[in-house]
Amino acid sequence: MPATTRALPASQDLEEIIISETMIKRRVRKLGQEITAAYGEEEVTVVAIINGALLFTADLLREIRCPIRLDCIRVSSYRNETRAAGKPEIVHSLTIDIANRHVLLIDDILDTGKTLSVVVNLIKKLKPASVKTCVLLDKKGRREVEYAADFVGFDIPDQFVVGYGLDFAERYRNLPCIGVLKPHLQNPPEWA
Ligand code: 5GP
Ligand code: MG
Repeated sequence: MPATTRALPASQDLEEIIISETMIKRRVRKLGQEITAAYGEEEVTVVAIINGALLFTADLLREIRCPIRLDCIRVSSYRNETRAAGKPEIVHSLTIDIANRHVLLIDDILDTGKTLSVVVNLIKKLKPASVKTCVLLDKKGRREVEYAADFVGFDIPDQFVVGYGLDFAERYRNLPCIGVLKPHLQNPPEWA
């Protein structure tokens, strides 16, 4: 385990690291190059879905060489299907105008596809010049709504992961790597 990861107490809670800090850094740099090549000199309006995409967006933006504008959108995806039939709700929407702009939507993970399809539909109604999506992680096997991202960091299997922006009950977002929690920590009653 790299020294920086070992130094964080939260890393003791991981059963397994599936993507190391080094792998993330290397892939984020490459994604930045892919995005820069796709847009060239065009200005990109980046829309990050917070909180999950916060860390990924912060690092990725510094690898994108095109001019950018930034906005954030907050979505609550009720994982508990008893509420709103699991339909994601926009809790805080855009604050800048995106009409005729090239929008790059960034999220931490593409899972069932519900979140991105809701947000992309909202963005399309605002008549942007184009919409592309970039996700750090893609669990292709879990899709309920057909959705393919334009830029993907890593394909991962169907495991609940934390770290590098991804949380469990708002914890673990500051882990520099991505991993799976030890089984006894995946449902602690005091964190509900
Ligand atoms: P979707 O709407 O595609 O099912 O889910 C997207 C959202 O669910 C993500 O933005 C993320 O907040 C959450 N999510 C899905 N899978 C995971 C996971 O493995 N770990 C964490 N921490 N969040 C996840
Ligand atoms: Mg999220």
